[in-house]
Amino acid sequence: MIENAKRPLVFVAHPDDEILGCGVLLQRVPAALVVFAVDGAPAGFGFERKFGSLENYSVARFREAGRALGLAGNCSFLRLRARAGAYFPDRHLFEHLQEAAESLLRIASEFSPDAIITHAFEGGHIDHDACSVLAHHTAKRLSLNGFEFPLYWRSETGQDVIQRFRDPHAEEITLNPSEREIAIKNKMLSEYGSQQDLLAVFSPMQERFRQFRFCDHARPAWTLSYSGNWRDRRDARIALRRYSEFSEAFSTM
Ligand SMILES: [Zn+2]
Repeated sequence: MIENAKRPLVFVAHPDDEILGCGVLLQRVPAALVVFAVDGAPAGFGFERKFGSLENYSVARFREAGRALGLAGNCSFLRLRARAGAYFPDRHLFEHLQEAAESLLRIASEFSPDAIITHAFEGGHIDHDACSVLAHHTAKRLSLNGFEFPLYWRSETGQDVIQRFRDPHAEEITLNPSEREIAIKNKMLSEYGSQQDLLAVFSPMQERFRQFRFCDHARPAWTLSYSGNWRDRRDARIALRRYSEFSEAFSTM
């Protein structure tokens, strides 16, 4: 049960995902470590113009993370790094699964969590799904309890679905936050000044979790496609191939 977690490792793609998914949970646990997978500064969206460079934008987002997580109690954060020390580029985590897995495994082994919590595999953001692949792998390697939370995805009819699992079932756990917890969560979210337009669609009242179940990331039961341009649609196909190669590489070890 997620309520029994005393020392979770929360593994998310971007600064702000951890608060949207677990901002109440992070206030309740005695100690937590948040691990961010990518640099949070995707190319092609004009952030370099607004912030001077993509590096500046990335730095700003992680400063915000430091302030937001400072409100959580006993919670720190780390970032995945490639072997050469670089951070992984936003939207391209699926191209670096092996090195990202090594980095996550190293961090998790040092922190010794009693659970790992991550994004549900839902087809909303390509980095969120890659986090799910990596967290399932790490949970298996370290025999950890794994939990997932939903953020967003688009239905077959083109509707954005927010904070609900693609395949809901009875074993979901919903946290009911107190007024004080909601107030702190809102304060945490307000620290993410660079993301305010995006954050407005999420509710601070909802935190849903469920335990990992078997998930064939390379062959989801639904059509994997990400909203965006032709590049995003192409990347969905490549990502599925990478997930398949990654799981095959480990099934033979
Ligand atoms: Zn995200």
